[in-house]
Amino acid sequence: MSAAAADQFARDRLAELTDTYGQRLSGSDNLNRAIAWAVETMKKDGLDNVHTERVMIPKWVRGVESLEIINPPHHVIPMLGLGGSIATPAAGVEADVMVVSNGDDLTRRSAEAKGKIVLFNVPYTNYGETVLYRSGGASMAARHGAVGMLMRAVGPMAHRTPHTGGMSYAADAPRIPAAAISVEDSQRIQRLVNRGVSVRVRLKMEARFDADVESFNVVGEVRGSERPDEIVLIGCHFDSWDPGTGASDDAVGCIVTWETVRLMKKLNIRPRRTVRMVLFTNEENGLRGGNAYRDAHAKEASSHVFALESDSGVFAPARLGFSGSEAARKIVGEIATLLAPIGMQDVVPGGGGADIGPIAALGKVPTMAYGGDPTRYFTIHHTPADTVDRIDPQEVSKAAASIAAMVYVIADMPQSLPK
Ligand SMILES: [Zn+2]
Repeated sequence: MSAAAADQFARDRLAELTDTYGQRLSGSDNLNRAIAWAVETMKKDGLDNVHTERVMIPKWVRGVESLEIINPPHHVIPMLGLGGSIATPAAGVEADVMVVSNGDDLTRRSAEAKGKIVLFNVPYTNYGETVLYRSGGASMAARHGAVGMLMRAVGPMAHRTPHTGGMSYAADAPRIPAAAISVEDSQRIQRLVNRGVSVRVRLKMEARFDADVESFNVVGEVRGSERPDEIVLIGCHFDSWDPGTGASDDAVGCIVTWETVRLMKKLNIRPRRTVRMVLFTNEENGLRGGNAYRDAHAKEASSHVFALESDSGVFAPARLGFSGSEAARKIVGEIATLLAPIGMQDVVPGGGGADIGPIAALGKVPTMAYGGDPTRYFTIHHTPADTVDRIDPQEVSKAAASIAAMVYVIADMPQSLPK
């Protein structure tokens, strides 16, 4: 624990990764290069069994995009197409905006929607609730005859930042282009409409899917000394959305979990069980990495004794969440008392993660999540502001130290964590 907290190694590695490779959208050259770097770097760290596991992943390409208020008066406003959206025609889609406050409001005023661009001006409550408009809003609007969908970005107000993120189309609705705008622009359009002004916009998007491409999960281990076939899995997702450099989501999750195995090698520690680090590919717009890991490791699913993912940032106040049996929760709670000196002794309900989820479900594996303050995390989530500058080096060290201590004890204790 003191080794993890001792220096800024982890924060420096995070900066190196995000500065050098930038955004790591699935199918991008950036992601491919970052994966090659990770393999080389894990080998330099001296990890055991460093290798890649092949995954075919979707390749969505954003292309050039813009949104202009045509009238009243002309104004180009910041926007981000939603991942998975189709393009507009080359000349764009031009229409009046219909502002709705939620899905019920849209249904009630269905007759107004035909030929309009529907703007969901839905206030952010929490991610789980508000994200439903991002994932399904385009089809909701299209069912009422809309020709485009805009949404108030999923997140608290920041500095006029739109947020991108995944969406998909329902099979029973026409496909219309979909994009997010900032809270500020959403509210401005709302106020104009409230004054009886009709707001006309032109949305232009070139978004498209290319054929699936090859990608890789990256694996590195510290092999167990006594029970190498029992696996403690730790990981993160290595892909990101494209506006920022994916520092919080989820490069930092990769770096802080990676520290566990790097430090074990550096300090020459080998626990009883194998600790396996996986950088999963394509979490953001496909979950293909997590699903491929489950498929490739189905035979050893029940040999996974514990799985931990960090994919919710490292902003203070951070917390550990756990899902598993009551017997396991008790043991994890006792281990967490070791973290009292760094203020991480409370374990809250709710572990897991999107990437470890598939193997955990198959092997009935107890899971843990390391996560940061959700307001700070979701303020920059999937925006151009997701950069390393917003991440405190001390929080990175604290995350690395907590994860390393928790994982080491679980991997080395004489009895297995009960399922
Ligand atoms: Zn993420």
